[in-house]
Amino acid sequence: MGATREIERLVRGYASRDGAGVNLTRVIGSPALDHVDPFMLLDELRSDDPDDYIAGFPEHPHRGIETITYMIDGGFRHRDSRGGGGLLGPGCVQWMTAGRGIVHSEMPEVAGRSLWGYQLWLSLPTKDKMIEPRYQHMDPKDIPVVETSGLRVVVISGSFQGTDGHALTRFPVTYLDARVSAGAAFECPVVSGESCMLYVHSGEGTLGAARKPVRRGDLAILAKGDSVVLSAGPNGCGFLLLAARPNNEPVARGGPFVMNTPEEIRQAFRDYRDGTLF
Ligand code: FE
Repeated sequence: MGATREIERLVRGYASRDGAGVNLTRVIGSPALDHVDPFMLLDELRSDDPDDYIAGFPEHPHRGIETITYMIDGGFRHRDSRGGGGLLGPGCVQWMTAGRGIVHSEMPEVAGRSLWGYQLWLSLPTKDKMIEPRYQHMDPKDIPVVETSGLRVVVISGSFQGTDGHALTRFPVTYLDARVSAGAAFECPVVSGESCMLYVHSGEGTLGAARKPVRRGDLAILAKGDSVVLSAGPNGCGFLLLAARPNNEPVARGGPFVMNTPEEIRQAFRDYRDGTLF
């Protein structure tokens, strides 16, 4: 057994506004935290008031990244420049490879009042930035859940206790949504060289052998080590666990594009303007 990953840095998201006026919490991609290689953005959309999200994200482009949308409650309808489209309901995941370019819209469905979901951006490595776009849509039935005593873990990507997620990725990516009951513990091996972090979306707990406290809204960026250990507090703890090897390549970002150089960003804006992005 190797070293337990301890907290290297604790960051809180900040209230932001994007799309046509959607109130959200930006956890990664903020002034306080530009990125955690290869994770470029993490947004939490969570509200019981449709006014916070109804404006949605009308038509916009992406290049050089994958956008991963995970809905816990509520729904989003998407449409794209390649004729794709569909509805993400509760428990659905859309793993979209923007690659060389896609133009899409992401608009909320107001069925109930509440919306709760996450969007994550993963920077593609240089060699893959201009690959063909693709969608992977996963319904809840396509997403395995590991349930043991005191633990419920949704395996979106990567694996947990021998159960593999079904998302096809360009390189190994771990994306888990774990719910740990009060007093129970979560433990998961993580490849030592990978960037690894944990976003607490519910309750509270303690992390690592040092048992440092974390609570709802904390993003804990973890130091090197071989495993993640979290003990849930009296209200239980729910969190997203993310891990992937860093690209270790130059990063240039501009709006919805993430490339390696400022010139590639300017080219993406030109391509979008000229209608040749996709
Ligand atoms: Fe988008």
